Amino acid sequence: MKKVIDGLVIKEIPYGENDRLLTVITADEGKILFCAKGARSPKSKLLPLCRIFTYANFEYYERSGRKWLSGGSVNDSFFALNSDISGFALASYVLQLADEITGEGVPCPKVLQMTLNTLYAIENKLKPLPLIKAAYEIFAINDSGFAPDVTECCECNVQSSEKGYFLDVMNGHIICQACMDKRSANAVALPVDRFQTSNILVPIDEMSRRAWQYVLCAEPKRIFAFGFPDKDTLFAFARSTETYLINHLERDFETLKFYHTVKEE
Ligand SMILES: [Zn+2]
Repeated sequence: MKKVIDGLVIKEIPYGENDRLLTVITADEGKILFCAKGARSPKSKLLPLCRIFTYANFEYYERSGRKWLSGGSVNDSFFALNSDISGFALASYVLQLADEITGEGVPCPKVLQMTLNTLYAIENKLKPLPLIKAAYEIFAINDSGFAPDVTECCECNVQSSEKGYFLDVMNGHIICQACMDKRSANAVALPVDRFQTSNILVPIDEMSRRAWQYVLCAEPKRIFAFGFPDKDTLFAFARSTETYLINHLERDFETLKFYHTVKEE
């Protein structure tokens, strides 16, 4: 029996002699693996459905425990992503993160919507790429259930500090500069190594703290609606989101390394 579903291609690999295997994220069924028979042939009618970044309505049938693609129609191919190397690199990283935070058979309507919005924002250059990247990273952190508490200093509960904070990555909270100074003063007998993997502290200023808080609470369609007055503060914010995410996921992303080699700043 033929079935149809809307989804976004996040990965495609050659399979066998002439086929392709697609990983697609869908709202209701999470991640789906499709076999596209004959799709390595340039004449295959399935070819337009088999490119990464393609959001399409897929037609398929199930046989021998597999889902076989039989046809479909493309809703959006995000084709312009292919014309800008840093945008392409960031979009590839976003798809790899989407792959990481979704599972087969686990509905993920928010991840699908956010990923589509993010590809659109990158393609149309709605915001600087480091901002779009940071917002998606915070979304992934939040969706995976390990968001930090950035509302107040974990020790003195101050809610706004012009002197700035440290983001305590592994403990998921922030500590203000004044409390950090006190900690340092009291730590003469037992020095704290700020760069131990178990105790990663990333400096963030008040503006970054507010940006974290904003993105954690924002509606999906408003998630990129914030900004920074200059590049340095934006880059410091972006460093904090990447450090937090990578240390919680405990893995490397080759697409992230690629992004850092080609990004324009
Ligand atoms: Zn404090």
